[in-house]
Amino acid sequence: MLRYLLNFVFPPRCAACGGRLPIETHELVCSLCIGKIDRLSEPLCAVCGIPIAGASEWCERCAAAPPHFSRARAVAAYRDGAGRDAGLIASLIRRHKYGLDQSLGRALAECLGAELPLGDADYDLVIPVPLHRSRLRWRGFNQAAMLGRAVARRIERPIDAGNLMRIRATPPQTARTRRGRRENIRNAFAVRRPARVANRSILLVDDVMTTGATADECARVLLQAGARRVDVLTLARVL
Ligand SMILES: [Zn+2]
Ligand SMILES: [Zn+2]
Repeated sequence: MLRYLLNFVFPPRCAACGGRLPIETHELVCSLCIGKIDRLSEPLCAVCGIPIAGASEWCERCAAAPPHFSRARAVAAYRDGAGRDAGLIASLIRRHKYGLDQSLGRALAECLGAELPLGDADYDLVIPVPLHRSRLRWRGFNQAAMLGRAVARRIERPIDAGNLMRIRATPPQTARTRRGRRENIRNAFAVRRPARVANRSILLVDDVMTTGATADECARVLLQAGARRVDVLTLARVL
């Protein structure tokens, strides 16, 4: 009732397009925008989840050097163009990360959509990709943890946001080569309590996957700590 009254006085607007939302809504993103999300669909590399052509099951990169995670899936392609070419998710993520607007975290969770691209996989635990505490202090929140909580609720599994830690502050991954990214992130993570991941099947959650170097390094450390399997879910994937 209160929400209805508030919405009546301050008509709610879509966090992505600014259009009017229905007055009785609980959502932050309008259905038109949700419908416009560039969702990834098969055929995808069975491992890393990038779109592939026809016959092969794995992309060339995974066939040549398989990552530590078993499977990565993303909800949508990350299109980082200008103006009308900019993907809705890319612009929401940017505004969320750098505009420090926490309410957009809920908008991003809505962009996950009705069905997560996880197939029939089952997990024991959701773990978000951590930020280094200096970055966390500056930003005030970890966008991967906000998404992780939404995913954990959705699949009805616990989230553990404190066990995997970023122990080394790394320079931003932007504008680095694939190999540079790998070296940049190496040994940046540690598992505080290995017993909590031992023999567990883990779903690692992040907002964007670029080359996969971060997810791969997290998976390596989790497996080393005794995890049975690590899969990755990101909201968006740079192609
Ligand atoms: Zn909209
Ligand atoms: Zn692949």
